Amino acid sequence: MTSFIDSHVHLADAAFDQDRDLVIERARRTGASALICIGESLDAARRAGDLAQAHPGYCYHSAGVHPHDALGYRASDLDGIRAEIARGAVAIGECGLDYHYDHSPRDQQRAAFSAQLALAAETGRPVVVHTREAEADTRQMVVDAGSAGVVGVLHCYTGSTELAEAAIAVGWYVSFSGIVTFKKWTDEALLRLVPADRLLVESDAPYLAPVPHRGKRNEPAWVSFTAARLASARGISADEIGAQTTANTRRLFGLA
Ligand SMILES: [Zn+2]
Ligand SMILES: [Zn+2]
Repeated sequence: MTSFIDSHVHLADAAFDQDRDLVIERARRTGASALICIGESLDAARRAGDLAQAHPGYCYHSAGVHPHDALGYRASDLDGIRAEIARGAVAIGECGLDYHYDHSPRDQQRAAFSAQLALAAETGRPVVVHTREAEADTRQMVVDAGSAGVVGVLHCYTGSTELAEAAIAVGWYVSFSGIVTFKKWTDEALLRLVPADRLLVESDAPYLAPVPHRGKRNEPAWVSFTAARLASARGISADEIGAQTTANTRRLFGLA
């Protein structure tokens, strides 16, 4: 059994309201040694924080404002994020830029992202970054933040080699989700490009279930399929992927 950490799961999502404890139990039995529960809004962050308190040493949480919701972002939201950090949140996010959906105006996405990067610099917390079809702006903001000492992860990465390399060059990490198990994924080079000490794995559950569960509600237990896909691309065992990504996730988020 491959031991791993799910570095990005929306476990506070209503999709898990009926059976959350069973989902956590299956994650444990499948080899997950910890779960990073993402608070993509202040409301989600509070619920993720409750999960972290209920499962100390196993569930951890983050707090941030997703680019989809940047339209509703207010400067006072930073106080809400600070409150979650005071309660033990290990990261800020997910935050970032999504020019594919454009659910919020791009200037407001940049403003919300910039404010959260500044908070990361101020608090010393890592950032969890969502980026889609926003390569130039993401690159500039990540490189600027990285140069100022902020560390983070490009989560559920599907972008270019160039953006990944720019982030890695300033000390950042890259996380892959079940998307890499889909038939349409053909970028083997990207799966090999990330150095062994910068690689993370994630479910992004309830979304993006890996093959052979594609289309179902995703859960952390299935990260093993993503680890196996990375293992075959990189020519090592899934156990090695699990060990490397576990060490990287603990280092990035400062887990015990
Ligand atoms: Zn995301
Ligand atoms: Zn997410």
